Amino acid sequence: MSEKDPDQPMFDDPILMEHKYNYITRQGEFKDRIHYPDQSSTNCIICRIVEEDPNTPGYEIYRNDKFIVFLNLFPYTSGHIMISPLAHMRDYEDFSTDLAEEMGVFIQRCIRLVKTAMRTDSVNVGWNQGPVAGGSIKHWHAHVVPRYPNELNFIEIIARSRPVIQSLELTQNILKEHAHLLEGSD
Ligand SMILES: [Zn+2]
Repeated sequence: MSEKDPDQPMFDDPILMEHKYNYITRQGEFKDRIHYPDQSSTNCIICRIVEEDPNTPGYEIYRNDKFIVFLNLFPYTSGHIMISPLAHMRDYEDFSTDLAEEMGVFIQRCIRLVKTAMRTDSVNVGWNQGPVAGGSIKHWHAHVVPRYPNELNFIEIIARSRPVIQSLELTQNILKEHAHLLEGSD
């Protein structure tokens, strides 16, 4: 598999197909097929992590009075963290202005944490909202994923399995050693 040229766009020129709009937006026909699993706050894995449920592996890195940082149990790469509000909220646009601004500043600190602790200058940052967009949990969470050159290797191509280079416990310890970066002085 050849390295992707970062200077080349992923797709060729877009093709305008306006007639597709009605097809794509006929949500009523899809709403019964594509939906979240039942995840009220009483049945939410992130709420269970916040509550430190002994039956839920949490791998918590840090929390303050509003936010919690914990490891993704199925990391894309080692050091893949998730950031959530402590409160059960689904959508970013429903955050108060204050909470949204504080989350933005807090995500900056989380990026510094991952870059420092996981020794890289490249990260993916973002979130998925809604089941069609890949948001499988109804409790808002952002991802920060450290990225490295030459991630793709023989095992991934042949065995379709993603090697993870650290145990979750070791990653948790490394990130916790740097958790002071989340306190911030700004
Ligand atoms: Zn929740």
